[in-house]
Amino acid sequence: MAEGTIIWTAVAILGAGIILPYAIQFHRRQREAARRQHEARGSGHDRPRGQYPFIDPGLCIGCGGCVTACPEGDVLDVVHGTAAVINGQRCVGHGNCERACPVGALVVGLGDTRDRDDIPILSAEFETTVPGLYIVGELGGLSLIRNAVDQGKRVIGIIAGRTPTAKADDVYDVIIAGAGPAGLSAALGAIEKGLRYLVIDQTEIGGTVLHYPHRKLVMTQPVEIPLFGWLRKDEYSKEELLEIWTDIVRRFRVSVRTGERLNDASWDGGVFRIITSAGMYRARNVVLALGRRGTPRKLGVSGEDLPKVMYQLVDARSYTEHNLLVVGGGDSAIEAAVGLARQPGNTVWISYRGKSFAKAKKKNEDKIRDLIDRGRITALFESEVKQISPAGVELSTGDGRIEIPNDYVFIMIGGLPPFDMLRGAGVEFGGTRKNADGTQRPSTVGASLA
Ligand SMILES: Cc1cc2nc3c(=O)[nH]c(=O)nc-3n(C[C@H](O)[C@H](O)[C@H](O)COP(=O)(O)OP(=O)(O)OC[C@H]3O[C@@H](n4cnc5c(N)ncnc54)[C@H](O)[C@@H]3O)c2cc1C
Repeated sequence: MAEGTIIWTAVAILGAGIILPYAIQFHRRQREAARRQHEARGSGHDRPRGQYPFIDPGLCIGCGGCVTACPEGDVLDVVHGTAAVINGQRCVGHGNCERACPVGALVVGLGDTRDRDDIPILSAEFETTVPGLYIVGELGGLSLIRNAVDQGKRVIGIIAGRTPTAKADDVYDVIIAGAGPAGLSAALGAIEKGLRYLVIDQTEIGGTVLHYPHRKLVMTQPVEIPLFGWLRKDEYSKEELLEIWTDIVRRFRVSVRTGERLNDASWDGGVFRIITSAGMYRARNVVLALGRRGTPRKLGVSGEDLPKVMYQLVDARSYTEHNLLVVGGGDSAIEAAVGLARQPGNTVWISYRGKSFAKAKKKNEDKIRDLIDRGRITALFESEVKQISPAGVELSTGDGRIEIPNDYVFIMIGGLPPFDMLRGAGVEFGGTRKNADGTQRPSTVGASLA
């Protein structure tokens, strides 16, 4: 064989050896990304919770820099050579993807808020279309702890400037609903300004931070908390942040009532009438810092009010040697079931109305499949919880009614966002604001991540 032919054959074999596996892997990854995108569209997970990465396909070169830059993972992937949103609900607005894009093809923001019926119309002072009713933090559309703290602080400055001093009545200057970063920052601002205030929260202090996975690293940018001072580090663990908030509440004696849910706020005779799960208050101003996770959806079955029934799993390690039931078929339910099944001595069931875990991420589906195959989790597909008792749970399944022994039930079937309550209070949203002739009125939302 001629020397040239040998060299070319060697080069071809070497090339094929290097390029072919890469090409196969690349093709598989693209196929998987396209499948996940298709599934996400079907389940609505590609749609955002608040802000969102907007990709210009004309500019995108499909390098995947944005995909690897996202610290939350799974929000973006490259599909058919272009970046695409796979799980918009996981975007928390860090903006790393935008900074990583070498060609400026991606912007994180709220888009045209006039089209979004999940974004309340706010003035530059955070006031809704109902005078005296303000929205701060993630409920306004933008995530991040820094934004929430900053907005909570600023809104109180605005309210203090508009509220007459030296009132001798039993009306609060401001009721703050929500004790997450935005609500607590507003409360500290109210103390600083000498306003008569009260904070209520349907759960505990800490807000969404409380629901992060154990030891999650939270990325923040420096922000000044009223009275307390600066949060300066780039990263805090979930536990560190919660300790800071708990310490703040204790040190500054923040007036907060936990376990109290806001049900309604209506304008009544010159003040707001605020109805909560525990009673009624009157206030000149209301600050809604409710976040966007909403109130956990309930099953509506008897026994659901037992103390063993929960709507979140904060730390799976707290549960060992128990009979446990997780209800739901999405990512949260699967992650909870997997976490619980990995603790010693637990017997775990998962009950889901659907036929398979098709709604979940492939990674989660694989993990739970493995544990089901190994007998660590019992999956009850096409089943429904009928009744919860102190020692068991009754379910209807394809094979009729069954009763399983049970110590704890985790119901993870999503949340009901507070939008209906806001609409009931008269707050207008981007996609719903119309002129008399039916045309869209411009939104005044000036939201940006800056
Ligand atoms: C998985 C995950 C990871 C994240 N990582 C980061 C990160 O690394 N860095 C970062 O800066 N941000 C991160 N975020 C975003 C950040 O947590 C939120 O932007 C921030 O907590 C918003 O604060 P908030 O006060 O507006 O609302 P929330 O923190 O959501 O607090 C809202 C509060 O309102 C209460 N509430 C709701 N409805 C009612 C009602 N009807 N009555 C009474 N109380 C009510 C809730 O119980 C809750 O305590 C992350 C979010 C998630 C989900």
